[in-house]
Amino acid sequence: MLKIENLTAEIDGKQILKGITLEVPAGEVHAIMGPNGSGKSTLSYVLSGREGYEITGGSATFNGIDLLAMEPEERAAAGVFLAFQYPVELPGVGNANFLRTALNALRRARGEAEVDAMQFLKLSRAKIKALQMSEDMLKRNVNVGFSGGEKKRNEVLQMALLEPKLAILDETDSGLDIDALKIVADGVNAMRGPDFSALVITHYQRLLDHITPDRVHVLMGGRIVKTGGPELALELEAEGYAKVAA
Ligand code: ADP
Ligand code: MG
Ligand code: MG
Repeated sequence: MLKIENLTAEIDGKQILKGITLEVPAGEVHAIMGPNGSGKSTLSYVLSGREGYEITGGSATFNGIDLLAMEPEERAAAGVFLAFQYPVELPGVGNANFLRTALNALRRARGEAEVDAMQFLKLSRAKIKALQMSEDMLKRNVNVGFSGGEKKRNEVLQMALLEPKLAILDETDSGLDIDALKIVADGVNAMRGPDFSALVITHYQRLLDHITPDRVHVLMGGRIVKTGGPELALELEAEGYAKVAA
């Protein structure tokens, strides 16, 4: 499970996270909702080890291991997956090779044997079928000319291939249309199980129409100000953050 205790962090000397405490037990999907600028993306970056953030206090552990002391690759090897808000386009890089490289980097870090092109094709076809996607996306260059929905599909496929124990999805402000939201939701729902947890970060309730979270946390001003069940998301949508948090 993910356990965050009194986590504080700053960027460029400005304190953004002001003492975050939350737990995501194994097998649960939690949502973090909050207004723009509340620190949602900062939390996901700090958890994934992105450079430039200074942790000034508190802790974050994943199954008892200190997440914050690990390099980003080590976090990935431990089973943490961060979905990016803005996927990169890589002209000249085939998507199948890109995905296989990512999978093999993870397997190496875990001391597992790498998969060759044939094994990868078999594995990726199975995942693509399970996610009801098209095999075409393997043949194209990474995200080049992909629609917003196709980029999301590719990200979900990457997640499915890497089989993380904890996925952190930051969907905030990315202006996803309903179809893209559905792709993300289906991807997360397909992974649900006793060994998978997710922290789904979203500004809007819409995504939670398709993913029913076990718990909803409200982040405002760098702090979790309220925690509740799935109904809290609906309340936020209807009444606004200020009223619900008051
Ligand atoms: P959210 O994802 O909830 O919209 P962010 O985590 O992106 O919030 O930002 C939280 C706060 O941190 C905002 O006030 C934002 O202006 C500030 N912030 C984010 N990145 C930087 C940065 N690189 N330098 C200074 N302030 C930043
Ligand atoms: Mg923002
Ligand atoms: Mg954000």
